[in-house]
Amino acid sequence: MNSSIWQDFLTIISQEINSRVVETWFKVLSFKEWDSASGTVYLVAPNLFIKDWVIKHYMQTLQTHLGRLLHVEKPTIQFVQSTQDSIKPEVPNNIVTLLPARASEKTNSIRINTNTQQLNPSYNFENFIVGPSNSLAFAAARAIIDKLGTLYNPLFIYGGSGLGKTHLLHAIAQQAQLHNPKLTILYQSADRFVQEFIDAIRFDRVHKFQAKYKYIDLLLVDDLQFIANKEQTQEAFFHIFNSLYESHKQIVFSSDAFPQNMNGIAQRLRSRIAGGLITDIHEPSIETKIAILKIKAKLHLELINDQVLEYIANQKISNIRELEGALIRVIAFATLSKEPITVELAQRVIVRVIVPVTSRTIDFNKIVNVVSKYFSYSINDLRSKSRNKELVQVRQIAMFMMKKCTDKSLRDIGEFLGGRDHSTVLHGVEKINKNLTHKVELANKLFTIEQEILR
Ligand code: ADP
Ligand code: MG
Repeated sequence: MNSSIWQDFLTIISQEINSRVVETWFKVLSFKEWDSASGTVYLVAPNLFIKDWVIKHYMQTLQTHLGRLLHVEKPTIQFVQSTQDSIKPEVPNNIVTLLPARASEKTNSIRINTNTQQLNPSYNFENFIVGPSNSLAFAAARAIIDKLGTLYNPLFIYGGSGLGKTHLLHAIAQQAQLHNPKLTILYQSADRFVQEFIDAIRFDRVHKFQAKYKYIDLLLVDDLQFIANKEQTQEAFFHIFNSLYESHKQIVFSSDAFPQNMNGIAQRLRSRIAGGLITDIHEPSIETKIAILKIKAKLHLELINDQVLEYIANQKISNIRELEGALIRVIAFATLSKEPITVELAQRVIVRVIVPVTSRTIDFNKIVNVVSKYFSYSINDLRSKSRNKELVQVRQIAMFMMKKCTDKSLRDIGEFLGGRDHSTVLHGVEKINKNLTHKVELANKLFTIEQEILR
């Protein structure tokens, strides 16, 4: 009876409140009892943090809806502390590995591993082409290396998508590590931060979460815009930020917007940012684009003549990632057709890249058919739960193509592919996107597949 009231309550608020909020703050609570004599509902919260948060922010929601379900005007809501483990977190095991292995073992000589595996070795200063569009950001990035925490703190780099922010952050992290191998460095994207923080709250590991940041000398947070509108995450972030800042530890941010234009970012965080150095990256000039393409071609071990590079650089593509994508396709196409790389070939390939898919009649069946045939898997395999490594990649390729060639949402794609979550699809699409810029062979395959789909 009691538990069905709680279930009803969850159903009702799920229609009213953002599902993430319901997940984070309500599903972790449980209903203990309803005392009709005193008009009190007793709820159990897994920890103090959640209890306080819910009381502060959701008291009225609880009273209104539970009151309706229990047919009373305004029930009193009381929280009782959970006896440890009375509420089982669902998947707590991953958080342990996300946290520094030895952070709880006292002493200040603790080293937290740099997430070096996340750093792209080719995103270094040598491979970064400097031009008027990015010279200030580049100079600042270089300058802080041997003056960590004392020169510009925080350093804030902003600019549009694909203009080299992540590249610079990786370069700073790697150069700083070279310069002083003893440093403890953490590079993390802000959405990862948000996710870890939410998990930490849910599984009552806020202290461990905070401990992770305690010993860091250099913190690089990529895509700060992801914490916009996430009030409680910003709160936690601000604390971490402040304590690092006060102990003169270097902080570097990237974001797609100027701090004052970041909606949903607390004013005090903005003003802290304003106290450091804010620098931006614009769209590069044609000359810079050519130089970037040249270095990228070299990284792919291709010698491409300047006219071809010029032709590509002159396309109306401001995003360097997309520009690089166009280059890769040219390389891929030439390899595939065994033709030399000429301007004429680039023209043929790039027309295809840029012209949007006009016939929107392509449906999921067609795409999945082509992909499954190409890799010799069945459609059922693609929809299955199997995590076979090769199959997972093929499934991700299907996701990528479905996203690319149709107007359908991530959710639709997930549903079609065996009822997968939209975030799984997003991850898949991004994975392929990322690999695409490094792996000519994959680009080749995708190119063939796309031609087949579009036929
Ligand atoms: P952002 O993080 O701003 O979205 P990235 O740092 O991921 O962009 O850059 C996208 C791609 O463009 C990467 O492959 C990066 O190496 C390349 N790139 C951007 N700017 C430059 C540059 N100035 N020199 C060399 N490569 C660059
Ligand atoms: Mg980036």
